[in-house]
Amino acid sequence: MNRAHTVPRLLRRATAAACFLLVAVACVTVAITGRSQVRWISNVDLAPDADRLFAAVLADASSRGILVSRSDSTADARTIETIERVVAKITEAADVSSRYRWDVTLVRARHVNAVVLPNGRIIVFAGLLPLAQNEAGLAAVLGHEVAHLVAEHQGERLSQAILAEATLQTVNLVLALANVRYRPLVGAAFGLGAQFGFLLPSNREQESEADRLGLLFMARAGYDPAEALAFWRRMAAHEGSGPWEFVSTHPSYATREAQIRQWLPDANLYFANRSLPLPRDLGELARLREAEQQRIAEARRARERRIAMAPLATVPTFPKGYWFEFGSPLGGGRYVLERTEACDQGTCNVFVASNGIEHVYTADYAEAQYRSPQGTVIRYDPPLRLFQWPLKVGDTWSHPVRFVLARGGTQQEGRTQFAGEVVDYDSVKTGAGEFLAFHVRTTFAGRPFKDFWYAPEARTYIKLTEHSPSGAVTFEVVNFQRTPEPSTPLSRE
Ligand SMILES: [Zn+2]
Repeated sequence: MNRAHTVPRLLRRATAAACFLLVAVACVTVAITGRSQVRWISNVDLAPDADRLFAAVLADASSRGILVSRSDSTADARTIETIERVVAKITEAADVSSRYRWDVTLVRARHVNAVVLPNGRIIVFAGLLPLAQNEAGLAAVLGHEVAHLVAEHQGERLSQAILAEATLQTVNLVLALANVRYRPLVGAAFGLGAQFGFLLPSNREQESEADRLGLLFMARAGYDPAEALAFWRRMAAHEGSGPWEFVSTHPSYATREAQIRQWLPDANLYFANRSLPLPRDLGELARLREAEQQRIAEARRARERRIAMAPLATVPTFPKGYWFEFGSPLGGGRYVLERTEACDQGTCNVFVASNGIEHVYTADYAEAQYRSPQGTVIRYDPPLRLFQWPLKVGDTWSHPVRFVLARGGTQQEGRTQFAGEVVDYDSVKTGAGEFLAFHVRTTFAGRPFKDFWYAPEARTYIKLTEHSPSGAVTFEVVNFQRTPEPSTPLSRE
């Protein structure tokens, strides 16, 4: 039993010698990481054992009534679907989706573990789910487990265990696997050692390798690799309650976190660009990272050049009757500067939309009121300073605001903080053409409110994203009145 734990230590010392002695039959290179491993047993060799073991686990779980079926409840069906979705994405990202018959089995047991057998059978113990918390958490653990399979760690562990028992010089390695004496080691190597009463734990090198590859797979599958840090932190906080639980065979969180942080930039390459092929080796990964760093630096310089070229954007003035048209997935409409009206700030401009909604802006384009044809009125006091003129990238501003919402004879009032920031100056494509525009981000009560892209040449925002608890809607200008400069301020007509 303890002997199994001494195997990896022994083998780490023996690996160099073994590679030298066994180079013809047993020394292979792990994909991507390029690590040399002593292994003459492949996933294909292990498949019959994996099939047998999987059938035994299935029969055992079934007889104890802990096999979760889709028909148990809609919640169970949803859980299985979620795991299957993550598995499909992860195996696709690892380029092994068609190489194995992937299949997920969920077992209603409190163990915090997930096992990927060398035949593509995945066993998830329900105790893992609260710790995984979400799809990204599941992707972190399944990415790691699929990485163990991709790197053929099970075959490596088994090879090592057999090697440790045999005399290096005399063993017939190819025949060793067939020797019934080693049979119990197979189950242990799969991470299901409890079946046999002892574990054959992965060593630190294999764990690091699974973390490193798993992070790439997870990111390439579309999950933020930074979520892996949060997941492993939750795992570390969880005290394993059985000797075969996941945490007992995995390294400390501090070690893991330090390594993951070091590898995150590589994973982020794939999170940002999922069509990037997996690297052939670490050299190629380093070259990709360097190219990406150059691209980011170039993009930063280009942004700085654009910002330096930005024109002076002062408060726009509108001729009477000025109009613009917006389109969105929810439909669009024309806004016309129909009239002016007296307001606390002097004279305000009233834009009327084709659906009857009115927006009242002060002469410096601050939002004073919103009125719907159904009688809803929102008043802002002072008006929301949507823009701070002249616009300059990097500028920020904020002010307290009292807002009054009147609807059907009732009135609600509140006070909060409004803030704005000019975050960029860049070209924006819209239905009316391409514009150079200032991106202005505003928040209301600390939450995203409206994002404007203000184009000086159009004298209006040519794109707008409105944020709400139910999601965001983006409008973009499809046409606008092109007026000659300079125009007469309406308020002074
Ligand atoms: Zn592991």
